[in-house]
Amino acid sequence: MKPLNKKSVNEIDLTGKRVLVRCDFNVPLQDGSITSDKRIVASLPTIEYLLGQNAKVILCSHLGRPKGEFLPEFSLAPVAVRLSELLGRPVKMAQDVVGENAAALANSLLSGEILLLENVRYHKEETANDPEFSQKLASLADVFVNDAFGSAHRAHSSTTGVADYIPAVCGFLIQKEIDFMGGALANPKRPLVAILGGAKVSDKIGVIKNLLNIVDTLIVGGGMAYTFEKSMGYNIGDSLCEQDKVELAGDMLRQAEEKGVQFLLPRDTVVGREYKPDTEWKTVKADYIGEGWMGLDIGTQTQYYFADAIRGAGTVIWNGPMGVSEWDNFAKGTIAVATAVADSGAISIIGGGDSAAAVQKLGFADKMSHISTGGGASLEFLEGKELPGIACLLDK
Ligand code: AMP
Repeated sequence: MKPLNKKSVNEIDLTGKRVLVRCDFNVPLQDGSITSDKRIVASLPTIEYLLGQNAKVILCSHLGRPKGEFLPEFSLAPVAVRLSELLGRPVKMAQDVVGENAAALANSLLSGEILLLENVRYHKEETANDPEFSQKLASLADVFVNDAFGSAHRAHSSTTGVADYIPAVCGFLIQKEIDFMGGALANPKRPLVAILGGAKVSDKIGVIKNLLNIVDTLIVGGGMAYTFEKSMGYNIGDSLCEQDKVELAGDMLRQAEEKGVQFLLPRDTVVGREYKPDTEWKTVKADYIGEGWMGLDIGTQTQYYFADAIRGAGTVIWNGPMGVSEWDNFAKGTIAVATAVADSGAISIIGGGDSAAAVQKLGFADKMSHISTGGGASLEFLEGKELPGIACLLDK
């Protein structure tokens, strides 16, 4: 993969300029209160840098799916309140996105002041990447900074369209994603070990195909492993299996062999009677699970087998749990892999979604080099796809 060389927010003169920043303020809300401000906290380095440059800071984001309607329950107003508390200075809240109120507030903004626009998805033109809407949004500012990696795989007005009208650079969050994930794919410290898990092979076919050209070792666990094991003639009992992907799984195993990629699959499996947290369970060899049982985690022998491969890595990329990690009885494999990655000393990159949540819950977050802020976006990145929200940014 070609290295990505995108201009960053600290490589462009922003003094006194109006800067439109696309943030990821898609925070969880309950009865109008924010239940986790993680995403707001993550946006602070870019915002604080801009304030330090005496820029006029105009923030925008989506929140949920209001589908083109001004629905109050999707208002970003609670985010303005929390952001103001975190920054210790006022954050003005616009009543619309590109309407009279937003335009008036943006035009009267002074250097070092902050304005948050309303939810960009209050306009259906946002997700349609409508050029007129993009132009109106861009006209509020002189420069665009994209810092919403979680939405960078979507070509929407506020992630991509605005870059047609004003110079666009990345914020520190996207810069970090490019440095770590882009770096690991374009120029990894070897051996490069990728660990994939989660429920379905079909979600990760593109990722596996791309990684087979890049990695030294590919470890597959979780529900998706059984489709591969089925292709090897194993009895997988009632485990998850995508019947229409068995042939493809076999092809991928052959490809790995041709390319000299080590492909590691579970050697033993923790099986349960039913898909329930407190179901009866036992550990069996992976090649014979038997009817009436389903694989719900990797076994102890596999934990050591995978940990051995992780221990020697220069770089580890991990996406997807090794079993049903939400349930204690079937979380041990994921915990063992998280521990091995944390202790490996390798550059460690955790894809968004379930593996990021598992690492955070287990308290290993500080031991990882990078935890991606985007689930879908990080998968598309690993597929080797060009993300529109990054492709539209100025090159260095
Ligand atoms: P994904 O979103 O594809 O990364 O998948 C994550 C989900 O896969 C989690 O909710 C896990 O519970 C589920 N999962 C992992 N391993 C298994 C398994 N062996 N059987 C059923 N579900 C699994």
